[in-house]
Amino acid sequence: MENNENIYEIARKSCVICNSCRYCEGLCAVFPAMERKREFSLQDIDYLANLCHQCSECFYDCQYAPPHEFNLALPKQLAKVRAQSYTNHAFPSFLGKAFGANAIVTTIVLVIALFLGFFASGTITATEPSRAGDFFAYVPESYMIGTFSVVAILVLAALFMSCKNFANAIELKGVNAAAIIQSIKDALKMRYLGGHEGEGCTYPTELRSNVRRVFHHFTMYGFIFCFIATVLGAIYLHILNIPAPYDFTQLPKIFGVIGGIALCIGVAGLFALKLKADKNIVDENSVSMDYSLLAMLFIVSFGGLVLMCLKESAYLPCLLYFHLSTVFALFVMIPYSKFIHVFYRFIALVKYNMDEQEA
Ligand code: SF4
Ligand code: SF4
Repeated sequence: MENNENIYEIARKSCVICNSCRYCEGLCAVFPAMERKREFSLQDIDYLANLCHQCSECFYDCQYAPPHEFNLALPKQLAKVRAQSYTNHAFPSFLGKAFGANAIVTTIVLVIALFLGFFASGTITATEPSRAGDFFAYVPESYMIGTFSVVAILVLAALFMSCKNFANAIELKGVNAAAIIQSIKDALKMRYLGGHEGEGCTYPTELRSNVRRVFHHFTMYGFIFCFIATVLGAIYLHILNIPAPYDFTQLPKIFGVIGGIALCIGVAGLFALKLKADKNIVDENSVSMDYSLLAMLFIVSFGGLVLMCLKESAYLPCLLYFHLSTVFALFVMIPYSKFIHVFYRFIALVKYNMDEQEA
């Protein structure tokens, strides 16, 4: 088993070779960022690893890739560092280690614990027939809001600390608005997944394709729509005094349905691509982290759609407890799972765009 130091040292040696070779300098943001350095600290490797989006193009182009004795497999080596960086900068660190060691088991334990909490707090049958289909007939509103508030505060604090630790580690200082705006544009367009002139990247195989970018778009915008639906639901309930369930003419339902379907499509597509991905570029030790996040995103989005379709049925309480458990578990996972890559990559992009402005 490779330890933390070895993982970084192997990647550092590869970066030294790449910096002499420079054959791949036009492929992505990693190589221009690398070329600004003569030597690489471990913090530099953290930064480069989170700038890499594992398109694998540099692996297929490399004359030093295995079986060459240099054994240069940059996508895989940076993927190992990336996964390790999620654990190294997590707050509190024991939760980062728990997810890093076994993401699937930790996720299952979390869902079961939350399910039991909702089950114990709620009632399995609506006390008044007129309230069938009303979620708060099965879970007390105070329990749902109380649990969500506590979880939200803890998760946001953990997320803030994790991002701060990472930003400090890669020495991100003096951030300016122009770099942030450029990074938001790059992230929303998934610019680097487009490869050369928008022809796509070499993932999951050596053939260029935009399929990964398309599925990432479905996933990202699907998630954003679901998030907007949740916020709108809170506004409808607490400000407009319109309780759920909503119909197809109301905004929470419109955003929720579009977001849920888009998220299902995006996540299922990314799952299929990951199964097909070339094993030479995949870090086998972090796949459980990848699969657990994709599975949770799918379960949450698909579960939400099923709940909507079966809200008048006798299965509603159990479906509701399960859906709430998976939503809360996903939320808790954000700072410790692969989800954190959204934030770390954005922070790395901000640093890259700031360095570009100064160049
Ligand atoms: S990945 Fe290989 S070909 Fe590309 S810059 Fe590095 S050493 Fe050169
Ligand atoms: S895998 Fe892609 S993004 Fe990562 S360093 Fe290689 S070319 Fe760049």
